[in-house]
Order: sequence, then structure tokens, then C-alpha cells
Amino acid sequence: MAARILDGNAIRDEIYGELAGEIASLAAAGIRPGLAAVLVGDNPASRVYVKSKIAACEKLGLASIQVTPPATISTAELLAVVQDLNRRDDVDGILVQLPLPPQVDAKKILDAVDPAKDVDGFHPINVGHLVAGRPTLVACTPSGVMEIFRRSAILLEGANAVVLGRSDIVGKPMALLLMHANATVTICHSKTRNLPEVIRRADIVVAALGRAGMVTPEFVRPGATVIDVGINRISDPAQAENFFAHFPERLAAFREKGTALVGDVHPDVAGVAGAITPVPGGVGPLTIAMLMSNTIKAARLRRGSRASASVPAVAAVPR
Ligand code: NDP
Repeated sequence: MAARILDGNAIRDEIYGELAGEIASLAAAGIRPGLAAVLVGDNPASRVYVKSKIAACEKLGLASIQVTPPATISTAELLAVVQDLNRRDDVDGILVQLPLPPQVDAKKILDAVDPAKDVDGFHPINVGHLVAGRPTLVACTPSGVMEIFRRSAILLEGANAVVLGRSDIVGKPMALLLMHANATVTICHSKTRNLPEVIRRADIVVAALGRAGMVTPEFVRPGATVIDVGINRISDPAQAENFFAHFPERLAAFREKGTALVGDVHPDVAGVAGAITPVPGGVGPLTIAMLMSNTIKAARLRRGSRASASVPAVAAVPR
């Protein structure tokens, strides 16, 4: 039986529809939420990511500014950029696109972002709030995954959830959100023993490994929900043949382009799982949607007194 495909683009559109209402009520209070993106240097992948975040702002009618210092910038100079954005009243959210050049102390920069404007949810104050289960700005990718669960009616309470990966930006906050939603959570990493056996016990698998197709059908319990966070580019024809043996259209597209984006989950898992997110078109669109949602939330919280007459109370996060 083929898995239900959890369509990230459709869920993103649903969220954008709701955000449009919030943006309109903020506008009635004279507030236009604004996002500042700091893009240091010339990394082509970072440029693509920032471009799609700015495009999302434009689509929704949020204000956006881009600050593009050169790759030679020092930590002190970049700190001054962040502090300037912290002071600006028209900036509600600040995102510092990673990676930063090696001479810059990335931790110092991220810690300098005003927690009230930390729309990536990376600041230790916001991470602490998440651990304590208090409303806060939560990292975008894991909160996007929670939207997939909620809007696809996937039951988390009492479920065995296995999170593959323990990074600060995906694995750890994902595990915390699942725990707060009353799942029983196991976190796996490169030192985990008997990984296939652990995954096979899961009702819910969230894969955030950065390892193309590592989760294969033998790993997955029939009927499980599988969320594929991984984004990996493959260019080896033999690997593509293995990936797309049952997906002739994707194989043909690979042959034409010479590359393809794949997740951490092998596409054949769709034959075993109960529900699965595709790559592309699964988690990715939700990451940007949650960045937009966090920017609006940050505007509401920071400029709340001016908007309180017309804007509903902030929903508690985590849910
Ligand atoms: P990291 O490299 O920071 O973390 C990877 C995690 O996977 C680590 O905890 C690592 O373990 C674990 N891991 C790696 N190899 C194995 C293995 N063979 N067995 C068990 N565990 C393993 O990656 P990120 O969390 O930043 O990203 C993960 C993936 O998600 C990437 O493909 C990234 O591109 C993608 N991503 C997608 C986003 C989206 O919007 N869809 C957003 C962010 C990321 P250890 O800690 O022991 O090293």
C-alpha cells in the first residue's frame, strides 16, 4: 500500500492564508512586520536561501531588508551590524544566514541578536524557553514539522517518535517539541547502536541526518509516519538509479540535469510508510513559512501594546 503523501506546499499555502489575516489586522494597527536578512559574502547556496526568504516576505507583504557585508568582515564589525538592527524599530526579525566566514565568531554573532527579534529561534534564551515549555520563538524547521503533524491529523500523544540527528537547529528542538506534545521520544546520532532496530520501533520517524537515502524500507515499521528533513544533492548516476528505480520520471529528470535533490529517506520507503513527506516539497516549504510566522509573532509581541486592540492573543508555543 502506498503511503499518504504529506504535501508541504499545500500546508504552506494554508498557513500563508492564515498569516494574511494576521498581517491585515497588524496593518490596521499601523504595523508592518519587517525581516532583516544578513548575508555575509558570496556563498551561492546562502544567496539562494536568502532570496527565497525575501521572496516570501514580498509575497505576504512583509517589509524586508538585506544587509550584505563582504566576506572579509570582522566579528566586531558584524556585531555592530547586528546591534544596529537590534535598535531599529522597523525590524522585527533578524536572521543571520549561516555559515559565516571562518574569521567570524558565529556564536558571538548569534548571541548578539535581540532574543525578541530572534526569528530563527537560535538564541540561548529562546532555547531555554523551549526547554521549559514556555511560549517563545522556536526554530523554524522543527516548528514546521509540528505544523505538518497538526494539519495532517497525525496523533503524537503516546506515540513512539524517533528523531534521527541531534543538531541545535533541527534534531534537539524537534525532540523537545515532540516531547511537549506527549510523544515518547528517542534521539539518535552517529554513536547510536542498532539504529535500524531503534527506528523500527517508531510510530513516527523524523530524519535530519544529512545522509542521502540512509533510511531504507527495511528500517521502517509498516504504517509509520516518516518526516524527511534532509536535503542532499546527488550527482552520481549509479546512486540516482538506485534512488529512482521505481520513479522513472525522476530518473529521467536526473539524466537531463545531472543532479537531483534527495532526502535522508530512500524514496522506496513510500511503499512501507503510512504517511511520508516528499523531498523536495515536504519540510522545506514549511521552514520558510515558519520564518514568516515567527516574524509576525515577533512584531506582535514586541510592538504588542500598539496592536493589542485589534490583534488576538499569541498562541502558546510549543503547542
Ligand atoms: P547536522 O550535520 O548539524 O547534524 C546531523 C546529525 O545527524 C548529527 O546529530 C549526526 O550525529 C547525525 N548523523 C549523521 N550521520 C549519521 C549516521 N550515519 N547515523 C546516525 N546519525 C548520524 O545537520 P542538520 O541538523 O543541520 O541538518 C540535517 C539535514 O537536514 C541536512 O540534510 C540539512 O540540509 C537538512 N536541513 C533541511 C532543512 C529544511 O528546511 N528542509 C533545514 C535545515 C536542515 P552526531 O551528532 O553524532 O555527529
